Amino acid sequence: TNEKITIAADKIKASNNLVIFTGAGISTESGIPDYRSQGGIWDKFQPVYFDEFMSSKKARIKYWEQRLDMEKSLSVSKPNKGHKSIAKLHEMGKLKALITQNIDGLHEASGIPAKKIIELHGNTRRVRCMSCSKLISWEETQKMIDAGEKAPECSCGGYFKPDTVSFGQAMPVEETRRAVELSTNSDVFIVVGSTLLVQPAALMPEYAKNAGAFLVIINLSETPYDTKCDVLIRGKAGDVLKNIVNQVISD
Ligand code: NAD
Repeated sequence: TNEKITIAADKIKASNNLVIFTGAGISTESGIPDYRSQGGIWDKFQPVYFDEFMSSKKARIKYWEQRLDMEKSLSVSKPNKGHKSIAKLHEMGKLKALITQNIDGLHEASGIPAKKIIELHGNTRRVRCMSCSKLISWEETQKMIDAGEKAPECSCGGYFKPDTVSFGQAMPVEETRRAVELSTNSDVFIVVGSTLLVQPAALMPEYAKNAGAFLVIINLSETPYDTKCDVLIRGKAGDVLKNIVNQVISD
């Protein structure tokens, strides 16, 4: 692994177009469970699909119950070593962009400017009306919930939903376009903490690799791209990223 860390660090040093792509695995060390690991969210809950959310009050209530359960870990979460190491690369002028599937906002909290972050699946700290598109903050949402609303609704009559992409819901057009463009133009592309099973997000490393980028995967479990990448590091995101960034800094 030390050798792999050195290779990754050397590639970052020589890179002019570094793109990092993160999934739920970078935030588990901040206390936010991922979906697919043992003890992950799917062990506890079944996902509510977008059309169910829109068509059934029962489904909306179930969705909001899950969201409130997530809030227990989200509200006390802070960026960890992994997020901070990526922020360090940004400070050093080494990071072109960060594409994330995460909805927790921890990359922005780590000090990376919003314009450098592409949130492919949205952000759960914002809430949107599905009819008039009005955005409200989590604090405003919490007030409605505290007042007894189990599935908050907008004054226009529309349903409020966290501004994230549910199964069966369309991807944000501009974010997806930027992610494809950045991936295709990257020279080093690093995947951190993702099963690479959720499409189309998981196509980004493929676009990068096909266009000639050096592909690094840092993940605890297998991914479908393990045999296609240039360096595969099986380890905890926080430790691995810290070690890599320390080597980038060291000379
Ligand atoms: P996933 O849950 O499918 O996979 C997470 C991967 O990270 C697994 O392969 C796991 O082995 C690995 N992992 C877990 N802890 C790790 C660690 N400390 N170091 C390295 N690897 C680690 O996650 P995904 O691929 O991101 O897809 C899940 C979807 O769920 C995404 O679309 C995302 O929007 C959403 N999600 C987001 C959050 C969040 O915002 N924090 C949390 C759960 C799910």
